[in-house]
Amino acid sequence: MPETLHAASPGKPRVRFAPSPTGFLHVGSARTFIFNWLYARRNHGTMILRLDDTDVERNTDASVNSIFDGLKWLGLNWDEEYKQSERGDLHRKMAETIFQKGLAYRDFTPAHTSDSERSGAQGTWLFNLGMRELSRAESDRRAAAGEPFALRFRVPRDGGVVHFTDAVYGEQTKAAADIEDFALLRSDGMPTYHLASCADDADLRISHIIRGQDHLSNTYKHILIFEAAGFTPPQFAHLPLLVAPDGTKLSKRRHGPVVSVTTYRDAGFLPEAFINFLCLLGWSPKNDREQMTRQELIDAFSLEGINRANAVVNFKESAEPSNVVIPTPSEEGEKGRNLLSAPEDTFDPKALWLNAEHIRGLTIDDLTRRLLPIVQEKYPRVTSEKMLRITPLIRERIKLLRDVLTAADFFFVDQLPPYDPAELIPQKGDAAVAAKVLQRAKEVLANVEFKHDPLDQALRAAAQELGIKAGQMFQPIRVAVCGRKNAPPLFETLEVLGKESTLARIDRAMKKLS
Ligand code: GLU
Repeated sequence: MPETLHAASPGKPRVRFAPSPTGFLHVGSARTFIFNWLYARRNHGTMILRLDDTDVERNTDASVNSIFDGLKWLGLNWDEEYKQSERGDLHRKMAETIFQKGLAYRDFTPAHTSDSERSGAQGTWLFNLGMRELSRAESDRRAAAGEPFALRFRVPRDGGVVHFTDAVYGEQTKAAADIEDFALLRSDGMPTYHLASCADDADLRISHIIRGQDHLSNTYKHILIFEAAGFTPPQFAHLPLLVAPDGTKLSKRRHGPVVSVTTYRDAGFLPEAFINFLCLLGWSPKNDREQMTRQELIDAFSLEGINRANAVVNFKESAEPSNVVIPTPSEEGEKGRNLLSAPEDTFDPKALWLNAEHIRGLTIDDLTRRLLPIVQEKYPRVTSEKMLRITPLIRERIKLLRDVLTAADFFFVDQLPPYDPAELIPQKGDAAVAAKVLQRAKEVLANVEFKHDPLDQALRAAAQELGIKAGQMFQPIRVAVCGRKNAPPLFETLEVLGKESTLARIDRAMKKLS
C-alpha cells in the first residue's frame, strides 16, 4: 500500500490561478484570480500562478502578455509561478502510477475514431470493452510493437458514485456509471488537461481549487484521478458563471469588448474600482457594503459568501460590439490605449457608479497623477501644475478617467471647437441681452483680479447694473469660455483659465453673435 499523500498541507491555504493562455484576460478569469488571491491574502496563504500552456497550437506569447499586463494593471501579485508545459514528466509520472495500479489502461483505438463510431449502437460512448479488458500481456506486446495508444482512466463500473462537497454548490454526487473512461494521455503521448491539472495541483500541494462553475462537472474526474494516485483531493469551490443580461454565458465572440479586462483599463476604470466591481459578481459581503477598498475586501472575503446564482453583468446588449474592435493582444501593445472606443453603455451601471465613487475618494494629487497621462496623450503641453488646478473642478463630474477629455476639454485647447451661438442666449433673453452681457463682462473682467471672490462680486454687480438675473449674466459667459452650458462652476473655471484666455473667448463669442 502506498502511503496516503496529502495534496493539501494542513494550515495555510495554497491556491492557484491557472489560465490557459489562448486569448485575452477575460473578466471572468480576472475574477477567478481575485477570489483566489483574496482567499490567500485573507488566510495568510500562498497565491500561485500556473500557466496551463500545454496546448501548443492555441497558446500565444501575446496571450501570456495580455494576462500579465492585465494582472499588473490590477496590481495583483502572486507568490509562486509555474508553467505547465515544463512539467510534462511529472504529469506522465502520475499517469504511470495510476497505470501500474491497474487503474488506467491503454486504448489502441485509432485516434481519429469519432465518439459516435466508438459508441456504436449503445448511445453515449463510455468505454470500449475490448480495450478495457485487454490483457496486460497483450497490451504490453502492442505497446512494445510501437502501436500508438491513449491512456484511459478505468472508471469503476461497480455501481458506485463519485462524491465531493463543493464549498459553494454543496454536495455533488454522480454515478460512476455515467462517467466515460476519459483519457489521461492522448495517443501522441501528451497529458490531457485533467491529468496535467491534477498532477500539478497535487505536486504544488494546492489546498483549495477555486475556479469557474464550468469546471464543476470535470471535478468528478479529478476526484477519481487524485484518489487513484493516492492523494487526498483538495477542497473545491466553484464560482458562479458571469452572464450577459439575456442569461447567456459571457463570451468574447458574442459580447465583444465587455469581456476583456483591457477594455476597462483603456476606458479609465481605476484598478481598485474594477476589482471592487468584480468581487460583487457572485460574492455578497456580510456587511452588505458595496464600495470597498482592497484591504476591506481582503478582510471581508470568505468562500461562504459566494452565491450559486449566475452573476449578471449588466450592459446594453444593443451596444453593438461591431464598431468596437478589441485589438488582438499583439496589436494591443503597439497601438496603446484606445480611449474612446467602448461606449459608456458597454459598462455595467454599477461598475460606473463604483468607479465614480472610487474617483471621488482619491486625493487631488492621486487623481491628477492618473488623469495626466490620458490628457497628455491628446494635449502634450498640459502640465501637472495646470492639471492640479483642473482636477478639483471635474472630480465630481467624471465616471471614467477618460471623461476628463470631455469634461475639461476647454481648458486644454487654445481655440474652442465650434459651438452654436444660440447657446449664448440666456434664458428669458435674446441675442441683444447676450451681446450686452458679453460686452459688460469684457469691461468688468478686464479690471478684476481673477480670483473666486472678486469675480463673483464683480459679475453679480454687473448683472444688477444691467437689470438682469445673475443666472442670465453667467450663462453667456459660461458658454463663451466653455463652449457649452454644462460645465464646472464658473468662477473657479475663470480662475484657472486666466484673464487673457477668458477675454479672448468673450471677444470671439461676441463676433459669433453679430
Ligand atoms: N486552464 C484551465 C482553464 O483556464 C484551468 C481550470 C482549473 O482551474 O482547473 O479553464
